[in-house]
Amino acid sequence: MTADLEAIVTDVAAMMRGAQERGSVASYIPELAKVDASQFGLAVATADGRVVTGGDADTGFSIQSISKVFALTLALGKVGDQLWDRVGREPSGTAFNSIVQLEHEHGIPRNPFINAGAIVVTDINLGGHQPRVAIGEILRFLHYLAGDDDIAINEAVAASETASGFRNMALANYMRAFDNVRHDVDLVLGAYFHQCAIEMSCRQLALAGRYLMLDGRHPGGGRVVSPRRARRINALMLTCGHYDASGDFAFRVGIPGKSGVGGGIMAVVPGRASIAVWSPGLNASGNSHLGTLALEELARRTGWAGFSPP
Ligand code: GLU
Repeated sequence: MTADLEAIVTDVAAMMRGAQERGSVASYIPELAKVDASQFGLAVATADGRVVTGGDADTGFSIQSISKVFALTLALGKVGDQLWDRVGREPSGTAFNSIVQLEHEHGIPRNPFINAGAIVVTDINLGGHQPRVAIGEILRFLHYLAGDDDIAINEAVAASETASGFRNMALANYMRAFDNVRHDVDLVLGAYFHQCAIEMSCRQLALAGRYLMLDGRHPGGGRVVSPRRARRINALMLTCGHYDASGDFAFRVGIPGKSGVGGGIMAVVPGRASIAVWSPGLNASGNSHLGTLALEELARRTGWAGFSPP
């Protein structure tokens, strides 16, 4: 299979480059609305240590909600399973920024990958510190995972979301009323918006996701998380990684994945590959249109789709 991987990645990138329908870039964060929708990148880091790339795989983009996977990993390291007293682990069936469920469910978000859940995770990661401490920690974590100290925050994107993130402010304040956000809302959102504004390329993101392909091991040696935790994070990505389109993504692609409104998707094939794909145009559910198509095609052609035997 690995012998063919270069050809498959090259083909998929060429197919996506030529696609007519590309979705539309997120516009509710003004800075993201400026991104050129014609771009497409793909990177596959394999369990045997190769990185195969296609298209704009070295162009940085806003990882947005993909950061929720890394933030969750850090928060589980701090408080362990107590995290699940404050955040559920069920698919939401609602949009990424929905507020309706929160009232019925007394301020406990459905899962850590919708915005409300990620805001609680950020509250845990703050742990009484200033936002810059929590932001520094997540950046250092990504440097360690990807083996790349150049990963940084795009301050213009962070400022743009800070100025326009009214829904997230509402979510955070609402959960504060239930005591499920415990720090000052401005501090929590400051950390959350900066975490979402981290910029990475497909190559960097595929490298950062390797611990989830390797059952929690760091490819350079040592352990990032236990095998059980890595498997659970993958299970959450499969069931909750694409908001109200999570079921459709699992059906079409059959691989755990987490999307972001910057147009990126990180996907993990346990024991085989850590994949990052990026194309800024989104479909109606807020997930990368071509990114999803590319993963569907890649999974089909590699045989990685949906619970295939080794
Ligand atoms: N920063 C974005 C927000 O909170 C993340 C959403 C996403 O990537 O899906 O609206």
